[in-house]
Amino acid sequence: MQKRLIVQKFGGSSVANVERIQNVAKRVVKYRKNGHDLVVVVSALGDTTDELIDLASKINSDASEREMDMLLSTGEQISVALLAMAIHKLGYEAISFTGAQVGIITDKNHTRAKIVKINGDRIKEALKKGKIVIVAGFQGMTLDQDITTLGRGGSDLTAVALAKELAADECEIYTDVEGIFTTDPRIEPKARKIDAITYDEMLEMASLGAQVMQARSIEVAKKFNVPIQCRSSFSDKPGTMIIKEVKHMEDVVLSAVTLNRNEAKITICTVPDKPGVAAKIFKELAEAEVNVDMIVQNVSHLRQTDISFTVAKSGALKAIKLTKKVAKAIGAGEVLEDEDIARVSVVGVGMKSHPGVAATMFDTMAKNKINIEMISTSDISISCIIKNQLAEKAVKALHHEFGLDKR
Ligand code: ADP
Ligand code: ASP
Ligand code: MG
Repeated sequence: MQKRLIVQKFGGSSVANVERIQNVAKRVVKYRKNGHDLVVVVSALGDTTDELIDLASKINSDASEREMDMLLSTGEQISVALLAMAIHKLGYEAISFTGAQVGIITDKNHTRAKIVKINGDRIKEALKKGKIVIVAGFQGMTLDQDITTLGRGGSDLTAVALAKELAADECEIYTDVEGIFTTDPRIEPKARKIDAITYDEMLEMASLGAQVMQARSIEVAKKFNVPIQCRSSFSDKPGTMIIKEVKHMEDVVLSAVTLNRNEAKITICTVPDKPGVAAKIFKELAEAEVNVDMIVQNVSHLRQTDISFTVAKSGALKAIKLTKKVAKAIGAGEVLEDEDIARVSVVGVGMKSHPGVAATMFDTMAKNKINIEMISTSDISISCIIKNQLAEKAVKALHHEFGLDKR
């Protein structure tokens, strides 16, 4: 068998306890026995990252982002050391590294840093010595030697970036499901595994809430054309290939339904209807780095409008404070916040050539008595904001109506 360089990433659930870490070690060693070189990226054990965030919030609800990164990066440091020990126990050579140790250099944007450069020398040296290299996911270091993290789900990005940098032959993302499904299989057991999906669709799905892959990791994979296989760490079945092009894609109207519960809706009531007002509101939010998503402005005949928009729940507090300030300055009325919403979306490149997707989506919502509060569309997706408690019902209804449970 030809020797290949394989990057494998194991998510938190794949290393959640001693037995699972031992299983990962066994899988890695199996590839090693076949003569392959391995770079293994690991996430923090189970829910460690969430637990650390919770712990920090009990000490300081407004913790400095630099210190958050210092704290959160420890999760992955535990995993890499334990996996190395488990591999040693099987009689194989392995060495673990933090992101900083293998020269993953990022910008200074703490908690959501971008990788600017990777110096792969240390990894290459260790591989040359015949070692299995284990790298902590989700972290890097600035040029000033401050530790940074790459945003939630960031170990996916570490894996893809390393695969690119090292010109790996394969990049495998191991998780707790068998691949990318037509919707979250935890919500809809009838969801089906997709054999192959394009970067564009996967990116859209990830951006719209399918947490199975981090959106930025797919952006990087697309930019450098890194094929990814997303598969289960609990079985040997083939997973889903995430690639540039998939044949016969056009025949498929929809690929998936996604759900995102991490957004909040903010409404500014009775905004004066004159030029420059929207600019003022959104400029202020942009300057404070609050990412605004869907925006809806209703037409009025009284020279007043209501403007609603969504933001990530994590940034809602900041957004509300700022919006109240601007609302006062421009002479608008009350500012309302609703965290009890969800975004349900349908995704598929096929909708470019098949009309009627929006109509079917809205009709399905109507039949199920689900009120649509906001709508937005892109080339390959349609999203509705609805009440949170109706979200799962909507996902199942859409999944069925578009025949995703049948193909
Ligand atoms: P890991 O810890 O391995 O990074 P994540 O929890 O980040 O795993 O992602 C895996 C989870 O993503 C699955 O358990 C599943 O519930 C969820 N998920 C959401 N949408 C999808 C989808 N379309 N296909 C597969 N999994 C999905
Ligand atoms: N541990 C980090 C997180 O939970 C990174 C990852 O799992 O990819 O977001
Ligand atoms: Mg993940």
